[in-house]
Amino acid sequence: MRYCIVGAGFSGAVIGRALAEAGHQVLVIDERKTVAGNCHSARDPETGVMTHVFGPHIFHTDDERVWAYVRRFGDWAPYRHRVKAIAGGRAYSLPVNLLTINQFFGKIMGPDEARAFIRDKAQVIDAPANFEEQALSMIGPELYRAFFRGYTRKQWGVEPTQLPASILKRLPLRFNYDDSYFAHPYQAMPRNGYTEIVANILDTPGLELRLAAKFEDLDEKFAHVIYSGPIDRYFDHQFGRLGYRTLDFETFRGKGDFQGAAVLNYCDEDIPFTRITEHKHLAPWEARDIDGTICFREFSRSCGPADIPYYPIRRTDEEAMLGKYVARARAAHGVSFVGRLGSYRYLDMDVTIAEALAAADAMLDRIRDGAPLPAFFNDP
Ligand SMILES: Cc1cc2nc3c(=O)[nH]c(=O)nc-3n(C[C@H](O)[C@H](O)[C@H](O)COP(=O)(O)OP(=O)(O)OC[C@H]3O[C@@H](n4cnc5c(N)ncnc54)[C@H](O)[C@@H]3O)c2cc1C
Repeated sequence: MRYCIVGAGFSGAVIGRALAEAGHQVLVIDERKTVAGNCHSARDPETGVMTHVFGPHIFHTDDERVWAYVRRFGDWAPYRHRVKAIAGGRAYSLPVNLLTINQFFGKIMGPDEARAFIRDKAQVIDAPANFEEQALSMIGPELYRAFFRGYTRKQWGVEPTQLPASILKRLPLRFNYDDSYFAHPYQAMPRNGYTEIVANILDTPGLELRLAAKFEDLDEKFAHVIYSGPIDRYFDHQFGRLGYRTLDFETFRGKGDFQGAAVLNYCDEDIPFTRITEHKHLAPWEARDIDGTICFREFSRSCGPADIPYYPIRRTDEEAMLGKYVARARAAHGVSFVGRLGSYRYLDMDVTIAEALAAADAMLDRIRDGAPLPAFFNDP
């Protein structure tokens, strides 16, 4: 019997290839007409711009194995991601760095002076319990209100006091002029888009790819199912729907250069969208040769049953619901849950690939030993 991999995103493609390369017969199915899941990119037929169809995706990693792996499947161009923020009608540098602090407060401070200045602004809160307290204790009320409060409410649809402090711990605060959005040593874009990379991963003997096909409609018996779809969907939402945010993209096109940067965040709450992505700037090596431009205005809202799930929310009640699905999954046989939807976690691409490579290693060891495959290789 062959193995069934549900989902042709990075998780499914990496695991599917590893099983096929080890000599197993594999079926990879996806209900979409395209591979690469949410990383799918395609040239816009009107402008010729390589477009990140489900929102901007920037590859960054410090994992040598992952970096070597992705370069086997396509050509990558160096890319440094820089984001600007519009707040209170002015443009600023992000993440909050020395330029942002000096611009915002109309000063010319050096690193030590700025550090002391922000320390004075920051509120003393022992053990911040939520996102707002964490922000106030890191950067003080002015920068918090300008750059984080409105944006966070638009992005998550809840009060920042209802979000965990851990979300902000991940955002850097820099007392130098480094405005690189990510700090990883390897930062790059696939020259011909992510979809080509994933299609190449999937292109191997022993692996059948079937698109526009739902797992629920299959009637074939498999040696094992590796499921990278939503865990609550696999169990027919028996315990309810896990909460996600979804995104709506309002597309507009033009000539030349619309905003001079790949991503501008709009922090003010009276502007209903969170950011604008101008896709040609995500491929700077070819941008100057392309006349047209295509941009996405991005709106965030609660995810309904017919929407694409983007960001897991993980409120406390959702954690409890997830616990029931995890227990149900551990009691089930013949299925393992992987990837961002299978484990209800936000995962960057490099983490997704690293986890998929490690899961495939563990699967192959167990298959060789005749041992059953676990429900999870990474705990949700
Ligand atoms: C807006 C946004 C921006 C992001 N930006 C970045 C970034 O800049 N850098 C970065 O590293 N990461 C980024 N990410 C994260 C990145 O998208 C994920 O790491 C990656 O997509 C995870 O891959 P996956 O294979 O686990 O899931 P997916 O890519 O979601 O693949 C799952 C696939 O399973 C299919 N599927 C589900 N259920 C079924 C079913 N029952 N039957 C058939 N098919 C099914 C779906 O159609 C989908 O194609 C971003 C994510 C979002 C939402």
